[in-house]
Amino acid sequence: MPLSRRDFLKLSGATGAAAAWGTFGFDLQPAYAQAANLKTSRATEVRSVCPYCAVGCSMIAYVTGQGGNNTKPTLVHIEGDPDSPINEGTLCPKGASTMQLALGGNLERATAPQYRAPGSDEWRQLSWDETLDRLARLVKDTRDETFTETDDDGNTVNRQTGFAFTGGATQSNEEGQVAVKVIRSLGTVYIEQQARV
Ligand code: SF4
Repeated sequence: MPLSRRDFLKLSGATGAAAAWGTFGFDLQPAYAQAANLKTSRATEVRSVCPYCAVGCSMIAYVTGQGGNNTKPTLVHIEGDPDSPINEGTLCPKGASTMQLALGGNLERATAPQYRAPGSDEWRQLSWDETLDRLARLVKDTRDETFTETDDDGNTVNRQTGFAFTGGATQSNEEGQVAVKVIRSLGTVYIEQQARV
């Protein structure tokens, strides 16, 4: 098939370039097949469990570089375990992003506290000291303003209803225990955890 310069430029993307090479008579199927397998073909499969919620979906973690001299174990891929009766190879979006957790998180994430004053459309970066002082002040003031010792029937309740607390599934048992003790000591009754574990 004759290929004009304009046609060639239209094929300049990855797929287009590949198609162009095919047009020139190269058989790219072996390269495609190798590329499709490359990431996990020599990796060790490690069975694991999603760290996020109580569903407990099974995962396979693929690790390369194990066992050889001058190699470092490197996690290259995580996917749902098709042999698991719980998730049958599937993962929800959160579980499917576990590589980010394993590799230290999204590099685009904010790494310092950001504050937007009421009514403002600008964010200002705060220091951790400023942030903790402000949080402590707001927690104390809100707790004092909303704390009640008895309900309408005179029953002792000793509770505050001004703020809630929510934990996260990546907290350890120990972190969760400390958090709940601190938060309950303030009289907080609205305590939630997205994973219910
Ligand atoms: S977070 Fe998603 S993938 Fe992980 S255990 Fe829960 S449902 Fe499964």
